[in-house]
Amino acid sequence: APLRRSLQLCSRCYPVRASWSYEAIKQQYRLEVPEYFNFARDVLDRWTEVEKEGKKSKNPALWWVDGAGEEVKWSFEELGVLSRKVSNVLSDACSLQWGDRVILILPRIPEWWLVNVACMRTGTVLIPGTQQLTAKDILHRLQKSKAKCIITDESVAPAVDSVGAECQSLKFKLLVSDSHREGWLNFKDLLKNASSDHHCVTTKCQDPMAIYFTSGTTGSPKMTQHSHSSYGIGLTVSGRYWLDLTSSDIFWNTSDTGWAKSAWSSIFSPWIQGACVFVHKMPHFDPRISLSRFPITVFCSPPTAYRMFVQHKLSSYTFKSLRHCVSAGEPINPDVMEEWKAQTGLDIHEGYGQTETVLICGNFKGMKIKPGSMGKPSPEYDVKIIDENSNILPPGKEGDIAIRVKPTRSPFLFTCYADDPEKTEATIRGDFYVTGDRGMMDEDGYFWFVGRADDVINSAGYRIGPFEVESALVEHPAVVESAVVSSPDPIRGEVVKAFIVLTPDYASHDPEKMMKELQDHVKKVTAPYKYPRKMEFVEQLPKTISGKIRRNELRQKEWRKD
Ligand code: ATP
Ligand code: MG
Repeated sequence: APLRRSLQLCSRCYPVRASWSYEAIKQQYRLEVPEYFNFARDVLDRWTEVEKEGKKSKNPALWWVDGAGEEVKWSFEELGVLSRKVSNVLSDACSLQWGDRVILILPRIPEWWLVNVACMRTGTVLIPGTQQLTAKDILHRLQKSKAKCIITDESVAPAVDSVGAECQSLKFKLLVSDSHREGWLNFKDLLKNASSDHHCVTTKCQDPMAIYFTSGTTGSPKMTQHSHSSYGIGLTVSGRYWLDLTSSDIFWNTSDTGWAKSAWSSIFSPWIQGACVFVHKMPHFDPRISLSRFPITVFCSPPTAYRMFVQHKLSSYTFKSLRHCVSAGEPINPDVMEEWKAQTGLDIHEGYGQTETVLICGNFKGMKIKPGSMGKPSPEYDVKIIDENSNILPPGKEGDIAIRVKPTRSPFLFTCYADDPEKTEATIRGDFYVTGDRGMMDEDGYFWFVGRADDVINSAGYRIGPFEVESALVEHPAVVESAVVSSPDPIRGEVVKAFIVLTPDYASHDPEKMMKELQDHVKKVTAPYKYPRKMEFVEQLPKTISGKIRRNELRQKEWRKD
């Protein structure tokens, strides 16, 4: 029975686009959570059956290309066979069992997808990490997670070896490479000889599936534990209504394999819909080339990439197949959306979520877009703006963005911060999970991002969200990007300070004049009290590995000076 119910997940009829509305999504939307669920068995293997019956498009499940002309195309069936082999490598060669933790640090290579699926099949708990981690980061992650196995390539293996002795729990090291390394098992050799017979373990919906590290924008990255059902079922709304995917689509998400975003958009959301996951292992990031060369229909990228795109103009490229674009991870400036639309004819559908959640708010396909807004809440959550006493605030009032968790916690929310009950408990206020982000809901039910709670500036009694000021600044042709933070002031307590990266054309302008011009510009396009009284021109902004602006670093520097 549980299997049958989850099969309905992917065979549920797809709503007719023409009659689409947010209200319709809300009404149609009812996700059942069975007692048992395993994404590999209940979704991927189901697509294999649909594929065999000839009832889906001929697109592969995974289409991987690199910059050197190499290509891999796997059907759902091939993905099934290969991931079963990897499952046998994990359970036989590495004796891993249900609940054991596995750290995976690989670039965008097909093996990354195989290990993801194999961990689901074996019930081992996957912990992805980015290639850019240092030996110190790896040590921290190995010790904190008590992982029993690490899977990586030659570029990261030396860093693992340099700290391995300090990690008692680490028993197996798997090297994904054509060459061999002392103390490491060779993944490719083992895979060649492994059997493709594997019986998927039975997992309950709430059993742990993976631990994702948050981006570390505000501090040390947190180990966010997710169950089999949270992303596996909860990202249905994202795949179907925000990304607008069907099994005929070829979907490209550019995020690095180390983050939850990659699970969201390079595994769960597209595969729930049977869509093709397109992967480009790029030596250099120029998505314009991929979008014009490959028949990508849906594209997902963080705002930084769109900002870069519109700077470089797209006129010499045509994206023939592209029909739908989304952005998430940071707020996207209305000006960038406008420019993108002018150049491609397409809207950017912004989505808002966290490592801890599935999609919280989104501009769903077919919905009216209000530029600068994160759209409306996902139907699987009850999202509210609350005050410090957890009272729900009316439209138009700024407060904390929160998700109701009482009387029942959504199964589509993280289970806990792994091994840290106190930190987990600290996210709850009254009946709500508090996101740590500030926002506002308007009369039409659209949500507007103000800033991370710590980033909001309080100047002479005015509360100012950095994003609004940054958006105003980026509208000026001289500004590539900016970060707005609070800075100490003897009279006002704190004032708005902008760190600004100028375009090459303006870089040599007189800073005094430039500052005056930009201040006047902000005063013109937004409420004048928000204008940055202080300004600093910089070559680049401090960012996390995933490319998010680290305002707290700039803020701390400001306040340390005085
Ligand atoms: P850490 O929690 O370690 O400080 P992080 O919060 O950046 O890092 P993620 O879980 O990757 O880690 O990011 C989620 C956060 O990203 C959200 O809480 C929000 O602040 C921001 N975010 C995501 N999407 C949007 C969006 N569309 N608009 C504004 N902010 C967004
Ligand atoms: Mg966070």
